Amino acid sequence: MTLRQFSARIRRGRLWPVTVLVMQADAAFWDSLVFDGIDDVDVEAVTAAFGTVDVVARDRAAGAACPDCGRFSDRVHDSYQRRLKDLPLGEQSVVILLTVRRFICGAADCPRRTFAEPFAQLTAPYARFTTRLNHTLERIGLALAGHAGARLAAQLGLDAGRMTLLRRVMALPDPQFSTPRVLGVDDFAIRRGQTYSTVLTCGETHHVVDVLPTREAGPLATWLTTHPGVKIICRDRAGAYAEGARLGAPDALQVADRFHLWQNLGRAVETCVAAHRDCLRTPSPQPKPSLVDPLSEAPRSDTGSPQPKPSLVDPLSEAPRSDTGSPQDNSDRPGPDPVGRRAERKKAAHALVHELLAQGHSRRAIARHLGWSLNTVLRYARAVRWQDTFRENRPRPSRLDPYKPYLERRFPAGCTSVTRLHGELLAEHAPVTYAMVRAHIATLRTAPSGTPPRRRRCGR
Ligand SMILES: [Zn+2]
Repeated sequence: MTLRQFSARIRRGRLWPVTVLVMQADAAFWDSLVFDGIDDVDVEAVTAAFGTVDVVARDRAAGAACPDCGRFSDRVHDSYQRRLKDLPLGEQSVVILLTVRRFICGAADCPRRTFAEPFAQLTAPYARFTTRLNHTLERIGLALAGHAGARLAAQLGLDAGRMTLLRRVMALPDPQFSTPRVLGVDDFAIRRGQTYSTVLTCGETHHVVDVLPTREAGPLATWLTTHPGVKIICRDRAGAYAEGARLGAPDALQVADRFHLWQNLGRAVETCVAAHRDCLRTPSPQPKPSLVDPLSEAPRSDTGSPQPKPSLVDPLSEAPRSDTGSPQDNSDRPGPDPVGRRAERKKAAHALVHELLAQGHSRRAIARHLGWSLNTVLRYARAVRWQDTFRENRPRPSRLDPYKPYLERRFPAGCTSVTRLHGELLAEHAPVTYAMVRAHIATLRTAPSGTPPRRRRCGR
């Protein structure tokens, strides 16, 4: 608010009179304070009220050069005022009220009739912030981006929203790079599990070179075609990147990067060891006292000596079971062990989690290490035996239940087509979906007995 506006409001009775500092006495002092390093602007007046310092300023020169023809002109057509936000002064925000003159270009061969005087050192055309305030906002945006940057800006009295900061960053020119000789290619998650992009890095300087919108072969191949000169492509083992590199840079040498080699090797070894855990855990033949320290199991497992009968209860799992507060109600009457690939996976995963627990790792650390969700790790950790992980998945009541006996009659009779069986149930107005029928038929297919030979035609 300028002094004039302020006085007008007081006259209209909208504001109580308060102290307004009018500091016109020492314009040279304010000039050096506010416009240090900007030598084409003169301060005319300074007023301070309500935490805002208004600096009225104008250009020092008598005229300006036409931006089109370059001829100097001092014929003033008119003038207007620009309002520019500037860096705060102490705790006071600063507004520069800049008087801008519009000059007449008198050159006959110039298409421009009038032009506004530029303030190249102070601000850009049409900008509402000074250049130095813009630079500060750019630095905050680069360091902290949107929300965090806006919070810091508010603390500094700059009053810029997150979109203002992001616009400043987006307006900056992209850093220039030369095509790297060694190109690193890897994916990263924008929304984990939902959206992935590809980041290209220079394998020698480790600087980011570019970002591709997806992690498919096409954009990588296009990028490599438009940036020839890549000799080595360092990538993970994803097939899409292999294809993209082959299409875009067929002469480049493709190598697996060290991180993914170690990661894949580590996981393969863990899975393999976990699958053979039972072979390693054969206890010694001599009877042990009953209270065995669960953690002492690991060194004993190295002996490789046989044991007549493995215990159903894993001593390592005693503690997790107590966490649940309720004993496993069915652990004393186990049914037949599940079979199939899913069962093998669960067996290996269960063994792996309990092996890591025995090594003293926390459940959270195991989840991080394996890249699984914490709930998955907790489920395996709580399960006394790997078979118990199936019990937690005990099937819930389903709309298909009344029709299961029918399916179980039809399936051994040779009708194995899910489409056909689903159609038959729909004809009976059964409220079942295709997915329900497919899931149940899948369980019948993996059943150890009674699997009929696959037939294309179904007969009654
Ligand atoms: Zn001109």
